[in-house]
Amino acid sequence: MTTETATPVVARTRDELAEARAALTAGDVAVVMTMGALHHGHAQLIKQARARAEHVIVTIFLNPLQFGPREDLSRYPRTFDDDMEICTREGVDIVFAPTPDVVYPDGDPGVRISAGPLGAVLEGQARPGHFDGVLTVVGKLLHLTGASSAYFGQKDAQQLLLIRRMVRDLDFPVDVVSVPTVREEDGLAMSSRNTYLTASDREVALCLSQALKAGADAAAEGPSAIRRAARSVLVKEPLALIDYLVLVHPTTLEDVPEWYRGEALLAVAGRVGTTRLIDNMPVRVGPGGGALQVFSEHAGRHEAPVE
Ligand code: AMP
Repeated sequence: MTTETATPVVARTRDELAEARAALTAGDVAVVMTMGALHHGHAQLIKQARARAEHVIVTIFLNPLQFGPREDLSRYPRTFDDDMEICTREGVDIVFAPTPDVVYPDGDPGVRISAGPLGAVLEGQARPGHFDGVLTVVGKLLHLTGASSAYFGQKDAQQLLLIRRMVRDLDFPVDVVSVPTVREEDGLAMSSRNTYLTASDREVALCLSQALKAGADAAAEGPSAIRRAARSVLVKEPLALIDYLVLVHPTTLEDVPEWYRGEALLAVAGRVGTTRLIDNMPVRVGPGGGALQVFSEHAGRHEAPVE
């Protein structure tokens, strides 16, 4: 068997992880953190990690800390055998799949990482405490895996931004790499939660990515044109209960003013049937504007008003 087709070592406890980690040959270790129910989006993160690091650890953990009391933790899809197939195919070295008592041996941790003000807007407003829960587990999993790089999807743009901030603000010795959103052929962003959608929900859900595309197509004309184009798609689909549609600065998440030119985040969230969905598109606003795959490294830092 070649390394690429060997079944990954499954570690359920801290000791098993430490043992599997110690058995890796020398070289960089990358981590891809997931909640399981893996799809092509996750596979793309693993591929990118594989391409750049010697070893890849995938974590599969449904983190209770980031779910609100009325959220979908109990019905979240659990597909471990299929997940293992994907991890095997993608050449993952270790799958760390702990239970909550392994990650939080003393129960609810009294100390958490605070996402601060950026964690209180958009998704954070809809899901209070969500990002504190995310950052706390990401911090712990970085320590436990000892990875030197970590791969996250642009699909969860605010999460990615907050993880970058945490790593910088708290000096985590890790390189954060972002991966463009993987979509179905018709544009729907892949998500483990798409399995909740009925056939008719799925049709309705398409308006999210279509709105983003319409917005991006109007990017050359400026912020209000982008917002107008995106909104005009959403208003045609009353069955999508839109929570927010925003065009914000990539690092402050504040609405960009009309004079703004440069990189911006067009983001949408809403409920379709019983399912809350999010999607976003990085865009360049102004001359030559349009959709971007991911933000450039210095996104939003050198944008100036046009005279
Ligand atoms: P999750 O299992 O939903 O917590 O996602 C785990 C990681 O996969 C996160 O970094 C997500 O941003 C990323 N991810 C989820 N869906 C996609 C997608 N459609 N394209 C790219 N990355 C994704």
